[in-house]
Amino acid sequence: MGINTMGEVSGSARGLLVGVVAAVIALGAGAGGGEASEVVVYSARSHYGQEPAIEAFTRKTGVQVKIFGGNSSELFERLRAEGDKTPADVLITVDAGNLWNAARAGLLTRVDSPELLAAIPAYLRDPEHRWFALTMRARTIMYNTKKVRPEELSTYEALGDPRWKGRLCLRTSGHIYNQSLLATLIKRHGEARVEAMVRGWVANTPTLINGDTKILEAVAAGQCDVGLANTYYLGRILAKDPTFPVAPFWANQQTTGTHVNISGAGVTAHAKNRANAVKLIEFLASPEAQQMFADANFEYPANPQAAVNPIIARWGKFTQDDTNVAAAGELQAAATRLADRAGYR
Ligand code: FE
Repeated sequence: MGINTMGEVSGSARGLLVGVVAAVIALGAGAGGGEASEVVVYSARSHYGQEPAIEAFTRKTGVQVKIFGGNSSELFERLRAEGDKTPADVLITVDAGNLWNAARAGLLTRVDSPELLAAIPAYLRDPEHRWFALTMRARTIMYNTKKVRPEELSTYEALGDPRWKGRLCLRTSGHIYNQSLLATLIKRHGEARVEAMVRGWVANTPTLINGDTKILEAVAAGQCDVGLANTYYLGRILAKDPTFPVAPFWANQQTTGTHVNISGAGVTAHAKNRANAVKLIEFLASPEAQQMFADANFEYPANPQAAVNPIIARWGKFTQDDTNVAAAGELQAAATRLADRAGYR
């Protein structure tokens, strides 16, 4: 993993691990079994701001939640360095590739919770039950609504068509979001087809940009006409400026479906408050909490029972690629090598 997740966190938060005690309203005792009435969370979502869903858990159960923030790679390294001394009971992180890496490093344990299995669709959780999606985000084509008609768009692959020469903005290949997109497509199609797609993108001399928000701003400014970005970045901008001239186009609706990724959670291998940790994740997967969780960052709920935020609901329903998101981890190294070979930097 290492530096490829650094773009996820703001400069001011980078390198800091800030302890925040979520609003605590003690309503009674927490879980039994001699555990303290608290749960400690390492969260790579901390830069998204307040998490009302976690505060709601404390109001409901009286269990205090201590959140330590950081970016994905910092929290991974910290958990690994602390070993069985870690105070963390729950790891929340972004991108299935990061969850997969944490599980493979032995940092997460299996949770066999019928509630979680019912709440979160199978393709959005670890087949071995060590992590579960909390939110879902699509990574799709974003276009300038003044310069591009949606009829001109179709698939990720078609962004390699010569008509997009000099008109495409892409995230640098070192970032995990595009690695996860490529990894999932490799799982679907094998390397040869995906490499041909990436070579098409590269032939269109894309502008490489290190940040999804910056890609959307470049598309809006006409620096490029189309790009790839995660949906919540556009949701955040549209919440402030409804006239922002960028819209999502749902890629690959006639073929594999639009690529989706997750933020998610797992119980740490050395959790001291395991019962509360499971209880917290179960609560976060409930429709009530899912709506708060998704609304906080304009993401889609992972639990299909929860409602979608009105700002993103306007984009309509779309067919998702239902390849298990674990592919993002399994094939991350293959995706990185493929990008290198194809000259995508
Ligand atoms: Fe992000």
